[in-house]
Amino acid sequence: MALRFKLRRVAETYIENIECPNCGWSSDDIEGFTTELTRVTFEGIVVVCRCAKCGEIFLPCNQRIGVISFKRLKEIILRDARIRGVAIYRNIRDVMSYVEFLNASRRGEIH
Ligand SMILES: [Zn+2]
Repeated sequence: MALRFKLRRVAETYIENIECPNCGWSSDDIEGFTTELTRVTFEGIVVVCRCAKCGEIFLPCNQRIGVISFKRLKEIILRDARIRGVAIYRNIRDVMSYVEFLNASRRGEIH
């Protein structure tokens, strides 16, 4: 069963299965992982998983990011940033740096 993350008529991201790059735990279901850190970027929905076993935060490498309307996507992101003060992540690279930062703080490398 593929996992699907979507913003109706705007963007969709599919993942076949999730595997933790740290401890190797894998699943074709969301069980064992949390995805609350998933970010919507100008390039689509970038899924971020947290492994429930070891706490590692990572981007599943086999995610297929699809965008139906880049225009609408950008509007939603800018609106959320304006109204709710949500930080803007432009692309997958921005999300990756954010994930690296989270893992580093978690390991106590940042004080
Ligand atoms: Zn893990």
